[in-house]
Amino acid sequence: MYPRLVIDLNKVKNNLNKITEMVKSSGCSIMIVTKGYSGDEEVHKILENSDIDYIADSRIQNLKKYEGTKKERVLLRLPMNSEAEEVVKYADISLNSELTTIRNLNRAAAKENKIHKILLMIDLGDLREGIFFKNEDEIFSTVEEILKLKNIQLFGLGVNLTCYGAVIPQNDNLSILVDIGKKIEKKYNIKLHMISGGNSSSLHLINKKELPEGINNLRIGEAFLLGGETAYGEMLEGFYDDAFTLEAEIIELKEKQSVPIGETGVDAFGNKPVYEDRGIIKRAIIAVGRQDVDPDNLHPIDSKIDILGASSDHLILDVTKSDKDYKVGDIVNFKLSYSSLLRATTSSYVEREYKI
Ligand SMILES: *Cc1c(COP(=O)(O)O)cnc(C)c1O
Repeated sequence: MYPRLVIDLNKVKNNLNKITEMVKSSGCSIMIVTKGYSGDEEVHKILENSDIDYIADSRIQNLKKYEGTKKERVLLRLPMNSEAEEVVKYADISLNSELTTIRNLNRAAAKENKIHKILLMIDLGDLREGIFFKNEDEIFSTVEEILKLKNIQLFGLGVNLTCYGAVIPQNDNLSILVDIGKKIEKKYNIKLHMISGGNSSSLHLINKKELPEGINNLRIGEAFLLGGETAYGEMLEGFYDDAFTLEAEIIELKEKQSVPIGETGVDAFGNKPVYEDRGIIKRAIIAVGRQDVDPDNLHPIDSKIDILGASSDHLILDVTKSDKDYKVGDIVNFKLSYSSLLRATTSSYVEREYKI
């Protein structure tokens, strides 16, 4: 059945070994982030038998699938108050910034007779989650309240960068996190076990040997899956960018002009498209659409194919320049960037095939 996502488990394993070696060589523990492929169970088996330290996801549903795992489970997205009970059941650690939620987690953990660990998130300027780093009073008063809770352990601090504000982790901003950690340890005479210095966008600092001392954990999704660091978009040496590929089938192939005829309004998604006049071209329609992929983050392996556009269930390609004489029923292969991988594993219309 098509469309299907082909997962090359050997390449996944290679990327996992490489990223583990890279992160651990910097003195950090590694959390592998599984949300980019919706917690696929075959990939999970590889994680389970690896040297990684933690398995992390933004969705509790994925962590729940890993019931019985030997690794510690981490919830990345700030918990909803309404899911506090699930969080303490299925996650050992969660990332937090709101005292109300932390108190709810404490109550839920007490009911389960558990100690739930948290990382307190500090916002170093990316403006997604965390207490703003300049508000030290808020940081300290929050810590003070957390330390009163019997079923919560303040396990450490974390920061997330390059997600909303596209701020790049550097030695100077990550050092602020380390310093805040030291101040907390001193002021309250406690030990913070984890200072988690970000995601795949922090990896460039390892290669440059600029990761500040004191950062002792990284949370890695994209680099593991697609082989690139995400601060500057560079491929990492020895990694594969095609551990995941997409295959879809041609359902129409016709020569037509490249500019629509008649007055144009907006497309199926409310955008006003711009059409380049390429003359008469060979147009292939393949049976996959925006429900299954992000057309802007999909890359034909036949580099002479151009993606012209997409609607919910159709992707339109210009195959005029290709050396291959495509026919209806032929399969077209693509590499995927992050948002396409995310959608392809989320869509229930995309089959999966595993290459061993
Ligand atoms: C998604 C996410 C990550 C992983 O990011 P990558 O860029 O895929 O490595 C790490 N931390 C948090 C909080 C996340 O939400």
